Amino acid sequence: MAEPFHRVGEQRGPFTVTEVTFDVLPGGRTREFVRDSGDNYATTFGWDDDREYYQICQREGNLLVPYTIRHKMTEEGVPSSASWVYVGNSPYDYWRVLVEWWKPREFTIIEHDVKASPEVFEEFAICPHHWCTFKYSNHSEENAEAWKYGILGCTRFSAYLIKHVPNALKDLDWRYRDWHVLSTGLGMELRNAGFEPHLHGIVDHHRMMDRGGVAQLMQ
Ligand SMILES: [Zn+2]
Repeated sequence: MAEPFHRVGEQRGPFTVTEVTFDVLPGGRTREFVRDSGDNYATTFGWDDDREYYQICQREGNLLVPYTIRHKMTEEGVPSSASWVYVGNSPYDYWRVLVEWWKPREFTIIEHDVKASPEVFEEFAICPHHWCTFKYSNHSEENAEAWKYGILGCTRFSAYLIKHVPNALKDLDWRYRDWHVLSTGLGMELRNAGFEPHLHGIVDHHRMMDRGGVAQLMQ
């Protein structure tokens, strides 16, 4: 069943949510109204859609490339053993793929707008931390700090971490199963379990700019 995204008392940017109304309309549409302590308000329409888990892939190997577009630069950055898994059939497929991959063996994610390099994989292979990530090349230091808790583009999870929170993805809050907010939701789960991300160097976040940019392409 559909749930509102916002909750009274939670943060909304720098403000606190003070009011939420949520309706399921005829035809399965949803309407959410939110107001915050800065007296900002918004109405958002959505769908009471299927966000249950069902299997859409099988985990193969230790390197996942979830994609909607196969970009040459991304291809150049990963070894041929990478598992490319299409996630473009619904906004929740990325989450379903991660549920399948969340087995107690370490793995790395390289998203479709990131160009990795051999050094990335060498560093991940020898790092003793449990949740490792590279900064995006287009992020400032402040951006990188703000994003580090919710970034999946070039990230490695250890077997220890996955064993420690085996249901972090399967039981992820309904509202965080959409790919737009998936990394934020998972990041919160992992921090609640006591894990902190370990920041490595910088990875090329090419964002498919040669093809108009990922923001345009994903519309
Ligand atoms: Zn690390």
